[in-house]
Amino acid sequence: MTESPWVVEFEGLSAEEEGRREALCTLGNGVFGTRGAAPESVADGIHYPGTYAAGLFNRLESEVEGRVVEHESMVNLPNWLPLSFRVDDGSWLGEEGVEVVSHRQVLDLRRAILTRSLLVRDGDGRETMVEEQRFVSMSDPHIAALEWVITPVNWSGSLGLRSGIDGGVENRNVADDRSLAGRHLRVVDADAAGTDGCWLEAETVQSRIRVVEAARTRISGGEPIGPSVRRSAAAIHHEMAVIASEGRPIRVEKVVTLFTGLERAISEPRVAALEALAAAGDVSALRAGHELVWEQLWRQAQLHPGDGHDPTAARILNLHILHVLQTLSPHVADRDVGVPARGLHGEGYRGHIFWDELFIFPFLNLRLPDLTRALLLYRYRRLGAARHAAQLAGHEGAMYPWQSGSDGREETPVELWNKHSKRWMPDNSSRQRHVGLAVAYNVWQYYEVTADIDFLASYGAEMLVSIARFFVSITEHDAADDRYHIRGVMGPDEFHDGYPDRPGEGIDDNAYTNVMVSWLLQVTVDAYGLVAEACRDRWERMELTADEVARWDEMSRRLIVPFFNGGLIAQFAGYENLAQLDWADYRRRYPNIGRLDLILEAEGDSTNRYQLSKQADVLMLFYLFSPDELSVMLARMGYDFHPDDVPETIEYYLDRTSNGSTLSRVVNAWVLARLDRERSWGSFREALASDIDDVQGGTTPEGIHLGAMAGTIDIVQRGYMGVEPRGDVLWFDPALPSDLTRLGLSLRYRGHWLDAQTGDGILEVSLRPSAAAPVRIGLIDRIVEVGPGETVRATIDRLDSSTPA
Ligand code: BGC
Repeated sequence: MTESPWVVEFEGLSAEEEGRREALCTLGNGVFGTRGAAPESVADGIHYPGTYAAGLFNRLESEVEGRVVEHESMVNLPNWLPLSFRVDDGSWLGEEGVEVVSHRQVLDLRRAILTRSLLVRDGDGRETMVEEQRFVSMSDPHIAALEWVITPVNWSGSLGLRSGIDGGVENRNVADDRSLAGRHLRVVDADAAGTDGCWLEAETVQSRIRVVEAARTRISGGEPIGPSVRRSAAAIHHEMAVIASEGRPIRVEKVVTLFTGLERAISEPRVAALEALAAAGDVSALRAGHELVWEQLWRQAQLHPGDGHDPTAARILNLHILHVLQTLSPHVADRDVGVPARGLHGEGYRGHIFWDELFIFPFLNLRLPDLTRALLLYRYRRLGAARHAAQLAGHEGAMYPWQSGSDGREETPVELWNKHSKRWMPDNSSRQRHVGLAVAYNVWQYYEVTADIDFLASYGAEMLVSIARFFVSITEHDAADDRYHIRGVMGPDEFHDGYPDRPGEGIDDNAYTNVMVSWLLQVTVDAYGLVAEACRDRWERMELTADEVARWDEMSRRLIVPFFNGGLIAQFAGYENLAQLDWADYRRRYPNIGRLDLILEAEGDSTNRYQLSKQADVLMLFYLFSPDELSVMLARMGYDFHPDDVPETIEYYLDRTSNGSTLSRVVNAWVLARLDRERSWGSFREALASDIDDVQGGTTPEGIHLGAMAGTIDIVQRGYMGVEPRGDVLWFDPALPSDLTRLGLSLRYRGHWLDAQTGDGILEVSLRPSAAAPVRIGLIDRIVEVGPGETVRATIDRLDSSTPA
């Protein structure tokens, strides 16, 4: 295994590991992504070639236990990878009779290029070397390329080649969903394109989105003999042969274009795909363009740990940055797409969009703010759907769905398959109203980082107001305690969908939700103040008055927060009455207790009965707010919570979480960052392992966990470097764990690019030359105004500022 932080490699072949490797070796450019499946493979229970376009969904009906249910899924598009060869009339690679003698896959993180080296032997002992390279172009978001260099090792003769596009694909990646309908596409047409190309057009059966892929296959190192195009019902292939000689490499280049009906600035997908194919250069020119854009992206996104850092951690962080940028690339800034929880890497959660952007935007805001803006507009465009949902439920304002897809309606399935009990269980997770709070938090964070007042006036404030109105309309005032209550919801912890005697009906006064609502009401009042005049017409249409806004300020002080054990924040009202779980017993009996909900249901029990959680819930408050901020907020709400109470609260909940969501360890690492740096590093290492080691035992093959990946980057940035945009100050307050002796990163803030580094007790922040106005930088505990071209430095008790001559 290489020590390089830029290389992830997989030696040999392993049927059990193939799914995980395919997800981890997915290549994408934000517009589409393709799993790292072998080009000669088909979906066969081991391999799963999958290609997904951002925002491309389709609905299908299925029968579950006699009832018809409808699901919306991100669609697995025609497979553009198919490429195979054979010697004379022997078997094709990928078929029985061809043995893979050696196999090595290398993902080059810096260049986003996947290579594969394999030695194969056919039934007659003829050995052939194949060196494969592929990329999904980051410079041209409609192009992908696959290159094979084929070298006969011990034979000379005819080398047959087959290259094509397979439209006979279905959505079959997720084991639990295999009983559901999965045929989302129908093939419309396919044909040859010139002498070396072919194309295939398909359409989604319900959303009627056209998809066209066109492929050109060229050979250098020999003249193709008898090229022909073969069409079957759902696929099209180019076949040809070439005379090959022992030891002489033959290069095969497959260039593919992909366009969908979602694309703008085209006539229609088929015309666009064929024109793009005709205009595309050869693979080396395409690769050069792709590599240049990645070089530029890495300049913005790279984290620089100093010498002596943990090389494995550095490599996984790079892998995570790669996958975040492959899913949410600059190309997304121009598109109507949300943040799919599992990337463009698999069909887990059907490509839906949850609250996970809360963990992803801190990374994007400070590097690619245009992108966050576009992703927030995904939510803005679905404000109408959220208002409609609120209205149908008898509420006001906007109720964002827990799972969102094409049009912003609630996509959360109502049932969940329990592989332990082999039963469908009710899924009430759509009670997680807190998703709207995440949208609001993200709007405000984006505004604080960018000071983009036009965004706030045009979109952000309207979202805040609509979300605030929703939460106000679901609160109930209780005269007995003169407090506002929110009943019947779920917090981020999905293991409590109700009280033991009222499962599925939600819990009351989730501390996270209530504190966040208080925060929301406050910032909405602030936002209203900032854009009151600019938005005058909008407020008039929405019948928003200064009186209503004043009531929010009042309400924000009177929401209830439950406490127990003399000062601990309770996850929800009545939490203290729940039983304690015998954790040691469960750990002994089950190798992986992450999904205690499934385990307990199979035992005839329920997570609702216990003080346990799937993931951080109360601790989310410490993830989003510093102990000081939280104390101030709680004091404003009339509660005496001191930063000294934080450690006990953290320990209480850390002891009672199964970490059944990969997001959980991210939060654990963060909350420990200031409390216990070494334990924080341990949780951080666990969070890093989420996908590379598939710690949940089988979920990574269904797509990476984008929130956890971005969350680990954020731990370095926000936790260890202490970067925190707050008000109009960008704070830096490093606290490096001992495994990280130095750290450097580059950030975009309010029109500036700035470079920050820390190590040897020094913190240094430099603003690159620009025309942007000076900004306020917080260095540990002091605020300084810094202009373009200036550098400021601090030690714990020394601060100096210098401007280069
Ligand atoms: C977690 C949610 C998360 C979702 C998608 C679930 O397992 O509990 O918090 O939003 O996965 O990543």
